[in-house]
Amino acid sequence: MKRNVSLEEISDGRLYSIHDMVKADCHGCKGCFACCCGMGNSVILDPFDVYRLQTGLGKNLTQLLQEDKLELNVVDGCILPNLKMAGEREQCAFLDRNGRCSIHESRPGICRLFPLGRYYEDGDFRYFLQTGECREKNRTKVKVEKWIATPDWKKNHDFVCAWHELLKMLECETAGQEDSTRAKDLNLGLLNTFYMTEYDIQEDFYEIFSARLQHYREEFGL
Ligand code: SF4
Ligand code: SF4
Repeated sequence: MKRNVSLEEISDGRLYSIHDMVKADCHGCKGCFACCCGMGNSVILDPFDVYRLQTGLGKNLTQLLQEDKLELNVVDGCILPNLKMAGEREQCAFLDRNGRCSIHESRPGICRLFPLGRYYEDGDFRYFLQTGECREKNRTKVKVEKWIATPDWKKNHDFVCAWHELLKMLECETAGQEDSTRAKDLNLGLLNTFYMTEYDIQEDFYEIFSARLQHYREEFGL
């Protein structure tokens, strides 16, 4: 989800690479779960998140939607799944009664990043530190690579860039004609190709993604 704010307003003004040290380590959150509540529909899942959830929980997207853990929303013209926030505290459906994440190993990329964000530029991205979001004031430095704890970071980086470019392309294609048949076809195609079609978790995600991306682009002439 894009945010219309300047980087200076919300960050320390620096951009970080995967090898940089950044003051993001909140030491296991110490009982705080502030960023697992009240996030609206902003914790959007990408296809790798769905693969990771399927691997960790043994459940595909359809099952997680049926269980009310996830929901679908339109974001910047695309229909995308996000973590569902519900109840009095508007809390994530994966937060347990002790205020801990019940799917820590399989948590989505946005949860892994927090309080970091991604800043996209020229087909690439770097990380920025959101200064007003995390409640822990005594955070210490940690290497970005360690913080996001995602194996094969280079492949993941390339996937994130490719996915971002595809969503940008879709946004341009559908701008101002969101109700057209073309826009609906592109959106349903995206949902089916990258989210609803179950992943074979024995296979490498990045290879599956690459094949699906090629198929999707050919099918829709992108
Ligand atoms: S606000 Fe910071 S300390 Fe609190 S749960 Fe989120 S990351 Fe952890
Ligand atoms: S998936 Fe886990 S870390 Fe992410 S918002 Fe839900 S409870 Fe919090």
